[in-house]
Amino acid sequence: MKYCFGVDVGGTTVKMGLFEENGTILDKWEIVTHTEEEGKAILPDISASILEKIKEKKLNKDDIAGIGVGVPAPVTEEGIVDGSANLGWNYKNVRKELEELTGMHAEIGNDANVAALGEMWKGGGAGQKNMVMVTLGTGVGGGIIIGGRVLTGAHGAGGEIGHICVNYEETDSCGCGNHGCLEQYTSATGIVRLAKKKLENETRNTMLNIESVSAKDVFDAVKAGDEVAIEIAEVFGRYLGHGLANLAAVADPAVFVIGGGVSKAGEVLIPYIQKPYLERAFFADKDVKFALATLGNDAGICGAAKLVLGD
Ligand SMILES: [Zn+2]
Repeated sequence: MKYCFGVDVGGTTVKMGLFEENGTILDKWEIVTHTEEEGKAILPDISASILEKIKEKKLNKDDIAGIGVGVPAPVTEEGIVDGSANLGWNYKNVRKELEELTGMHAEIGNDANVAALGEMWKGGGAGQKNMVMVTLGTGVGGGIIIGGRVLTGAHGAGGEIGHICVNYEETDSCGCGNHGCLEQYTSATGIVRLAKKKLENETRNTMLNIESVSAKDVFDAVKAGDEVAIEIAEVFGRYLGHGLANLAAVADPAVFVIGGGVSKAGEVLIPYIQKPYLERAFFADKDVKFALATLGNDAGICGAAKLVLGD
């Protein structure tokens, strides 16, 4: 029996899991992310925690296939990060440092890409080898998996779906500095922005006439049949559906997995995305499934484990 570790490094906590080769999670725990002094303690802390766990479980290092790690930054195939604002890192050869600290094999990936791999392995994309995951959170992230492999790209920025341009006329800036990015309309923050714009000139009665509207409020109101909320959801869905149709012309996935905080709204989201998708998708790309992510917070550790286990 071989084992491996899956590690999901976030700005406040590091989630960690011990896995059997077949995907069974034997143990899950968290440690604090110490980002001070350019995050210099992060990798030593992870290493110490893993070595401690090996001891606690009376495992042999030879039985560990390796350590997979997801980090919030673009990561090259070699496991190099050129700066992560969330972790305080500058240029860092994460793979090399972690291998030296632990004496075990390591694989490093971008957190959103790694979460996509997790959903392909054990979640909403299970059984598929060609999949696109879209994570609708504070921002919009994503992961593109082709033939079972994450698309990393030349700069480690493959799968940055949130920054596809979907509106050439936009004057407001995206967090990335461009204008008209998908993230500006379909992240939790983007949905709130759409709602505020809509409500400025709205005379109809709506459940959304409240102090501060959230993305959740919008979809709760959609479920209750609120006309204004439904129109906001249609705008959201049009941007996302058309963006995914463009993406499908390149990646041709079998399934789109929708994750992140916004996806907690549930199945109600899917038709709003699927209808405009079908209106714009290339004919050969129309037969694609839309599924919700199912692993929640475990997607990161699962995908990180899969990164090291390989196909
Ligand atoms: Zn952008």
